[in-house]
Amino acid sequence: MAASFQLNVVTAPLQLPVSGRRMQRFLQFRLASHKLPIVVGRFAGGQHVARANRVCTHCGGVAVADELHMVFECPALHPLRQQYASLFSTNTDTMRSFFAQQDHMRVFKFILSCLDFLQI
Ligand SMILES: [Zn+2]
Repeated sequence: MAASFQLNVVTAPLQLPVSGRRMQRFLQFRLASHKLPIVVGRFAGGQHVARANRVCTHCGGVAVADELHMVFECPALHPLRQQYASLFSTNTDTMRSFFAQQDHMRVFKFILSCLDFLQI
């Protein structure tokens, strides 16, 4: 006797407290499909930029401008880190722990604020 399956399809639109465009930007960041130099330098018009040269232009051009730098290190984003101070503790000092926090909306807003500040 063949097993039967019933597929429950959700047809109602997903209700999110944010716009689709803002969610898209956040997800692009999470999926490394954004415009930080670490990614842009990989595909810069066919001209590969060495990882060490994909530096942050917001804080002196020495540090590699990757996701970790944006979230935890870039001095230019320090005021935003202060504004979202509750997100930063010794328990949230890795990318994994940072994004696994209970207050997802605050993480979401911090990331979008960073992207807005960096204009990417
Ligand atoms: Zn920086």
